[in-house]
Amino acid sequence: MKLDATDLRYVTSDEFRVLTAVEMGSKNHEVVPTTLIAQISGLRNGGVNKLIGSLAKRNLVAKVQNSKYDGYRLTYGGYDFLAMRALSKRESMYSVGNQIGVGKESDIHIVADSEGREMVLKLHRLGRISFRTIKQNRDYLGKRKSASWMYMSRLAAQKEWAFMKVLHEHGFPVPTPIDQARHCILMEFIDAYPLRQIADVPSPGKLYSSLMDLIVRFARAGLIHGDFNEFNILIRRESGEPVVIDFPQMVSTSHENAEWYFNRDVECIKTFFRRRFRYESALYPKFQRTLANEEGGEDFRLDVVVAASGFSRKDMKVLEEYMEGVKEAESEHHRSDSGEEEEEGSEDDGSQSDEEEREEEEAPPPEKEIDQALPRGRSISPAH
Ligand code: ADP
Ligand code: MG
Repeated sequence: MKLDATDLRYVTSDEFRVLTAVEMGSKNHEVVPTTLIAQISGLRNGGVNKLIGSLAKRNLVAKVQNSKYDGYRLTYGGYDFLAMRALSKRESMYSVGNQIGVGKESDIHIVADSEGREMVLKLHRLGRISFRTIKQNRDYLGKRKSASWMYMSRLAAQKEWAFMKVLHEHGFPVPTPIDQARHCILMEFIDAYPLRQIADVPSPGKLYSSLMDLIVRFARAGLIHGDFNEFNILIRRESGEPVVIDFPQMVSTSHENAEWYFNRDVECIKTFFRRRFRYESALYPKFQRTLANEEGGEDFRLDVVVAASGFSRKDMKVLEEYMEGVKEAESEHHRSDSGEEEEEGSEDDGSQSDEEEREEEEAPPPEKEIDQALPRGRSISPAH
């Protein structure tokens, strides 16, 4: 999704009032009736219609025709606007630059403060996929059903923020967290390549052990990354040091499936090093031993620190159930798409991964992607 910086400058304060009213109204209305928007914004009905019209033209709200009444809902663009406006009011960010990443559940942009210092803005986009299916299957959303994509995206951002902060405070190699608003996180820009794009390293063994050491360090502080792979590990351009990103799925080592998550993180690194660098080691961390080993253990539990920091266990649970719901819905969708379950099994066997393997090795990191990851000389337009 494109971030339109011009919108940030040209929304009047009345339009902003109306937009905020739509956001507030959507806490308990899937489609916010025009009369309610007028009521919350405290503006006269006639005036409101015109303002809503101009917001709709810029896709900040969208008109929805309900069976009972006409109304509006906030769009992602509208939600982005509200978050960026909050960040720019607090002077955390001033201008918006290129998009450098688009994930399944986030968009990543380069932004800058008023001195031109570059930062990364991550906008969480949960609920973009398969949401209907999940809604039918899950009832944990309760009354919040109507605002669920906003709510879930915000929870993901709050969780990522809470973890990034404690990890940074405890000296883990993660980007410096700068600010958070609604579904957005502002963080330090790391001048780096994702490990995924790296064809060669001077010493694969050294990098392998520093990554395994990180998994161990996380676990001894009570945490498992949960998505520790070549996409979420950045390698600094200057020093070759790894930096870890992407925390919405982090779990505590006391999680019921902790060992499974831990092993999956370890396995991701083993597999990647084998395929990419032809590097294999008999040494890799084991969950029980890592936790049992007193020596080198941390005297703090970051999972406990996070829970105390305002991102509650309940929030964590809601988000986790949602994320599991997405995965379930996706695999169900996948199954019904590919017809017979048996067929899917055959798609997933070794022959496909061999093919993937070859593809990865034959294709060096495309220059274009690298250029995008390290934008230079791009234009940045002011956010207000
Ligand atoms: P997603 O949840 O969509 O996977 P990530 O947080 O992993 O989002 O970010 C996606 C991509 O954006 C990363 O692979 C990386 O290339 C880039 N990126 C994210 N954060 C930063 C950062 N702080 N500095 C530089 N690049 C980043
Ligand atoms: Mg990622």
